Amino acid sequence: MIDVLAVASEYYPLVKTGGLADVTGALPAALKPHGITTRTLLPGYPKVMQHLSSRETLHDFADLFGGPARLLGSADLIVLDAPHLYGREGNPYLGPDGKDWPDNWRRFAALGLAAGEFGCGGIGHFKPRIVHAHDWQAALAPVYLRYWQGTAKSVLTIHNLAFQGQFPSKIFTDLRLPPSAFAIDGVEYYGAVGFLKGGLASADAITTVSPTYAAEIATPQFGMGLDGMIRARRAAVTGIVNGIDVDIWNPGTDTALPERYTAQWLTRRQANKQAIEQRFGLDRDDGPLFCVVSRLTWQKGMDILADTLDSLVAHGARLALLGSGEAWLEQAFAVAAQRHQGRIGVIAAYDENLSHLLQGGSDAILIPSRFEPCGLTQLYGLRYGCVPVVAQTGGLADTIIDANDAAISAGVASGLHFAPADAGALDHAIARAVALYREPGTWAQMQRMGMKMDVSWEKSAARYAALYRRLLG
Ligand code: ADP
Repeated sequence: MIDVLAVASEYYPLVKTGGLADVTGALPAALKPHGITTRTLLPGYPKVMQHLSSRETLHDFADLFGGPARLLGSADLIVLDAPHLYGREGNPYLGPDGKDWPDNWRRFAALGLAAGEFGCGGIGHFKPRIVHAHDWQAALAPVYLRYWQGTAKSVLTIHNLAFQGQFPSKIFTDLRLPPSAFAIDGVEYYGAVGFLKGGLASADAITTVSPTYAAEIATPQFGMGLDGMIRARRAAVTGIVNGIDVDIWNPGTDTALPERYTAQWLTRRQANKQAIEQRFGLDRDDGPLFCVVSRLTWQKGMDILADTLDSLVAHGARLALLGSGEAWLEQAFAVAAQRHQGRIGVIAAYDENLSHLLQGGSDAILIPSRFEPCGLTQLYGLRYGCVPVVAQTGGLADTIIDANDAAISAGVASGLHFAPADAGALDHAIARAVALYREPGTWAQMQRMGMKMDVSWEKSAARYAALYRRLLG
């Protein structure tokens, strides 16, 4: 058995703003058959504290970045209970004004520091041999391990290089790191402190969530200023594509669907489609229904989609969009829904059940991301027979087989690719999808192909397990 401490700021179902939570929530169970026991260190947000049933106190900090704190353990979780840092309702990163909490550096330095304590063998009976940090919020964990000379090996997984955790240099003295850590091969980043940068410089292994994204982030176009660092550490970087929790995402048992189905019973999706039409105020017809389940941001290409809506409607398609995010995009979609009543329906919210319904009843899901480290919604789409129409980037390129003529005749097509991520290419892809939808045999073959694909964690968990073993020699 290998003990692993995963460190993350999100964990499904307790706290989720995106795919990170799905990954940290599902990976531990998938690693178990490989002899890996994972406990996940999470900030003690109110929702997490409420869920913690048995709570053994593992450690007390008299002062952790401005207040007392303790580490509470249950079988699967270790929670950093620090009310002065995490005792706030709502989004884990943003205050009620929609802006980052001004003390985010303290909140997530504390998380990394606590992980560092574990990795140095300092806490109770739990002595993980691997500390696996996820994204910038946990990225100081490898830094503490390195500068405090911990015994555990460290892995840092990049779920999105666009979020880096950069803070003014004046915070450095509070981090309890030796002065030598404020250096070009440490946390120093253009004169400031970079959490992700420090983690990339310090981790024993770096992973990201698809092979294509691993290659992309070594280039200036996708490297977000860190491509030089990624190139310097190329030998330590691997891309391991995400899986999904195939029990939570199972159209045969999903209680969020009015009608459950399998690949043999695709016609049952019709009842789900009708439920979507009702919920989103859409006309009922026999044309294709596209959906979107997304953060409404530039990264996700939601402005590109907004520019394509008139022609989507002109192609005879309809759109049900579930998303929340930037106000100007919410506004743009609301205006489009007004303009195209019955053809475009928008719900500006975050709604887990509704996201299941959209996958279970729409004909296709549109994902026009400018970059996409892995993406999960296309994997849910495959599993639910909701054909993914995706920009050809990152994990989207790695997980979807484009319906070109050769792939269709070989019976392996599972979705549609387009490039570049712009309105012209998206419009063309929508037109192709509408045409394919008019060939019911081909469309159903694509749906079945997607539903047959292995999108579970099985293969990728084996790759993480192999990586841990390699690190431990
Ligand atoms: P990211 O993490 O960049 O947002 P992913 O595709 O990796 O993108 O993961 C997004 C996750 O969040 C998926 O589980 C998706 O279903 C979910 N999601 C995104 N927006 C919404 C929403 N408005 N309502 C419900 N679920 C959403």
